[in-house]
Amino acid sequence: MSERHEFKTEARQLLDLMIHSVYSNRDIFLRELVSNSSDAIDKRRFESVKQPDLLPAGLEPAIRIDVDSAARTLSVSDDGIGMSREEVGDLIGTIAKSGTQEFLKKVRESKDAAAPGELIGQFGVGFYSSFMVADSVTLLTRRAGETAATRWESAGDGYYTLDEAERDTPGTTVTLHLKPADQEDGMKDYADDSVVRHIVRQYSDFVAYPIQMEIEETEEVEGKETKVRRTETLNSMKAIWLREKSEVTEEEYNEFYRHVSHDWTEPMLRVQARIEGTLEYRLLLYVPAKAPWDLFMRHPETHRGVRLYVKRIFIMDDCDELLPEYLRFIRGVVDSEDLPLNISREILQQNRQVQRMSRGIVGKVLAGFKDLAAKDADKYKTFWAEFGRVLKEGLFQDTDNREDLLSLLRVVTTASAGESVSLSDYIGRMKPGQDQIYFLCGESRARLERSPHLEAFRGKGYEVLLLDDPVDEVWTSAVFECQGHKLQSAARGLVDLPDDEEHKEAETERKEQEKAHASLLGKLGEHLSGAVKEVRFSSRLTESPACLVTDANDVSPQLEKMLRAMGQEMPESKRILELNPAHPLLDALQRVYDADPEASALGDYAKLLHGQALLAEGGQLPDPAEFARLVADLMVKAAG
Ligand code: ADP
Repeated sequence: MSERHEFKTEARQLLDLMIHSVYSNRDIFLRELVSNSSDAIDKRRFESVKQPDLLPAGLEPAIRIDVDSAARTLSVSDDGIGMSREEVGDLIGTIAKSGTQEFLKKVRESKDAAAPGELIGQFGVGFYSSFMVADSVTLLTRRAGETAATRWESAGDGYYTLDEAERDTPGTTVTLHLKPADQEDGMKDYADDSVVRHIVRQYSDFVAYPIQMEIEETEEVEGKETKVRRTETLNSMKAIWLREKSEVTEEEYNEFYRHVSHDWTEPMLRVQARIEGTLEYRLLLYVPAKAPWDLFMRHPETHRGVRLYVKRIFIMDDCDELLPEYLRFIRGVVDSEDLPLNISREILQQNRQVQRMSRGIVGKVLAGFKDLAAKDADKYKTFWAEFGRVLKEGLFQDTDNREDLLSLLRVVTTASAGESVSLSDYIGRMKPGQDQIYFLCGESRARLERSPHLEAFRGKGYEVLLLDDPVDEVWTSAVFECQGHKLQSAARGLVDLPDDEEHKEAETERKEQEKAHASLLGKLGEHLSGAVKEVRFSSRLTESPACLVTDANDVSPQLEKMLRAMGQEMPESKRILELNPAHPLLDALQRVYDADPEASALGDYAKLLHGQALLAEGGQLPDPAEFARLVADLMVKAAG
């Protein structure tokens, strides 16, 4: 049954982009097809562990390229897993991936002509790159374990057809009806053996399965020039991670990265190691140049983490057990000498060797980051900007490596002029007598900079870390110390600035004042009993009349909100309202109280103080209309 379908809008836009792409390197279409074939063979081998009849004994899966210069076609065939008709529709016919829309938007926004090429790989739309060199594309595929085959065909004009078809064996053949070669346009003749051979060697040499092509050669047979055909394997199939570093060029390493990650750009960093001893394994891992678009909402379809091999044999893609969540942006390969070949995901999760391996791998990766930080501060800055937010998750997930992760941390502070600095930098310039690291969490740097909580710190010249990632709320509630210095929030507990003479005096005065105004504070507290725990005098305010602080052992309101959003039951914890004893407002309030402790105006003033403390930190008022009314009343009185 033949069916004609229309591409979804997004897919059509993507195709248009490919067809009219200004991306200069068209050769990569072949790499994409070969990579897909290699992945498909990997999948077939993986599935055949549980279902041996999917891969007949004796079949050595291969990839085959055929070119027909007369018909101007090029095809790539594989003995891979193949696709059912349904899968063809899902995977090829539509770009159902939720990232596509986002991708197209990015392309439209980016003025850089090379950008589509850079972005495309990340979104896993490699197959579509065929339309850069072909007028029409046919895909014939048969899923291993099924007998029916499917033919998908499209001229890249917005439509495709699906037909029932036949294929002798499981696998996939993609046939491109090539556009004419055009020197000026940089369009090579992809129907030429030597062009194809060159591209395969350049991009796909390390592919683990033979990439074969039938070549026609002229030979002398019995004195006569005769055309003979023979099959040539184009790639060396050498596992790149087994070769000596000195034998592999940067370009080869980068190419391998593109193969495993389906990214089109060069990686930012490479970490490789050979571990020997009771556990033996090798790793060749990469950090992408850009954070993948699904960094914070992982997509099982397109996510490619680390591939696990056992003694050179591919075991599985995206092996979660090898790396913790916070290193989910790492790509590459780990090859173990010790694990059993038939290891399954279920066994992996409980395997002690895997857990030990994972610890070793994390150590190597973090050492790679540290090395980058030490050797190339600028590049490290770029790295931190892309991946810092994810690494911070490690601060509460991975207590074993906490010190290392803290040393990798970069933060903006009240004294760093917008630059990110390390905690060691901060500690190195702590004031004499200072033994705590001060920080303040909030929604944005601009808000943090203006926060009343910083007034005393500013006034006395103490540097404060300004933390504006939502994840900062989380890690700062789990990490209490760095290099022997306590981490202290500027918005929590009593401010305990080092005991210089001036501070001591101020503290004594604050306590005396608190005693003198105890009944007023108590009354304000009564009025606000539903909203705050206590009203007290502050030692952190120098200008503002009031601010809200979290009690030393309570959860901050932001964290509380986050935990609730994640479905955790949380009792509501109230904060403390701190007033500035030096503010003229205080004397005014005291006069009102002295005249009549039960004056209703005191209730209104209490609400106004609480409201403005909330507003000053960028919070939301519980009852904005009431607050507005109270302000209006005040204005009437003042103006009247
Ligand atoms: P990507 O390979 O980056 O995921 P593609 O558009 O190239 O994106 O391919 C989409 C999907 O189609 C693949 O993830 C795979 O599931 C399927 N596919 C593509 N080529 C083949 C093939 N040769 N054999 C089996 N499945 C394939």
